[in-house]
Amino acid sequence: MNAPRHRVVVVGGGNAGISLAAKLLRGGCPDVALVEPNHVHHYRPLLSYVAGGAATLDDLRRPQIEVVPRGVHWYPDRVTSVDPVASVVHLAGGEQVGYGDLVLCPGSQVDWDAVPGLRDAVATPHASTSYLPEHAPQTWQMLAGLTSGRAVFAIADRHVPCSPVGLKPLFLAADHWRATGVLDAITIDLVVEGSRLAGMARADQQLREAAAGYGVHVRTRVALERVDAAGRSVQLRTPDGAEHLPYDALYVAPPHRAPEWVAGSGLASDGSDGFVDVDPRTLRHRTHRHVWALGDVATVDTSPSGGALRKQVPVVAHNIPAARVGAPLRHYDGYTIAPVTTSRRELLLAEHDRDGHEEPTVPFPDLGRPRRSLYLFDRYLEPQVYWHRLLRGKVS
Ligand SMILES: Cc1cc2nc3c(=O)[nH]c(=O)nc-3n(C[C@H](O)[C@H](O)[C@H](O)COP(=O)(O)OP(=O)(O)OC[C@H]3O[C@@H](n4cnc5c(N)ncnc54)[C@H](O)[C@@H]3O)c2cc1C
Repeated sequence: MNAPRHRVVVVGGGNAGISLAAKLLRGGCPDVALVEPNHVHHYRPLLSYVAGGAATLDDLRRPQIEVVPRGVHWYPDRVTSVDPVASVVHLAGGEQVGYGDLVLCPGSQVDWDAVPGLRDAVATPHASTSYLPEHAPQTWQMLAGLTSGRAVFAIADRHVPCSPVGLKPLFLAADHWRATGVLDAITIDLVVEGSRLAGMARADQQLREAAAGYGVHVRTRVALERVDAAGRSVQLRTPDGAEHLPYDALYVAPPHRAPEWVAGSGLASDGSDGFVDVDPRTLRHRTHRHVWALGDVATVDTSPSGGALRKQVPVVAHNIPAARVGAPLRHYDGYTIAPVTTSRRELLLAEHDRDGHEEPTVPFPDLGRPRRSLYLFDRYLEPQVYWHRLLRGKVS
């Protein structure tokens, strides 16, 4: 059978895949194909605002056809495996597509099995997540409807995309509860699996202060281990052992995992948890030299985020043609970002490299402190930058 073949095949038309395909075309690559099964594209960062009652799903959805760059060959299908030796991808519909270079960006998926009982819990009105479009509106219904009792917010640190933004629904809800006069009647527990609320020490401190202002009980190194949906209680794993907490509302930023076909295709390694085993600096696969990965599926040794892609996309777009002619490759320094609301008016940015060192986009003003202007930027301006610049490959 004669499989179609393309110079570059991009798997996944989310933030990473569309931005990269557009950037490759801008750089003169004549033949780029994209495999993406969904006909609707989501701007995921606004899901946190949907979950906090400050946006709707209509604000973050666009038909995929509108964001696929003109000139890209779109396969509206799903990759089921890759044969990196034959340089071919297999699609769910049975088709095979050959490549010169392959770029993997299918993102990551919620790992429901990591927390027994969680899937059952989010099927009830008392537990929810902002991490999936079908649950984000329900999160706000749950939080806005709470007028007394206990709200538990649990943030995992296992491959959660931009995990500090899991705090956005908490702060948006706490501010709402204060404005409606019920804050004192609600006990708020925040349990964070990692050691910090954000990857940058100063942002961690600011967020702890903001949480204290709402009377939130903050604990780090505490993981959600199990949920009893019928009994409305959670089992936590703390440094001192297991602990149980009842809840009236449970919000989760759940653990994520890589798509299974990545490891099934031999593209993960023992140490990569099933994620694509690339060199975190060049984003090139360590074994298969014509395979690349970026975005949430790649092992980049830093917190995955959309903001990180502003740095990753130009690196991969440069490195693919450079590697073909043996030219030096560019390096990604692990820059990442987390914009976190501290109220319904203010937001701070945690921008840092893979070692947690601050890496602000601008030196002044201090973006690591909550600001009104940053809230307006993140909620209203950044989505426009996404649709009109990032997805069009206008990043350098
Ligand atoms: C609730 C939430 C809030 C966030 N907030 C922020 C924020 O405020 N700031 C920030 O910087 N980042 C934020 N992020 C993180 C950011 O959205 C992600 O880091 C970014 O979307 C990653 O892009 P990606 O292309 O790797 O993955 P995705 O955007 O997840 O796209 C993956 C694409 O691959 C497709 N796909 C999956 N499997 C296959 C397959 N087998 N074959 C072909 N295609 C496939 C999917 O349909 C999807 O379109 C947030 C994420 C979430 C979920």
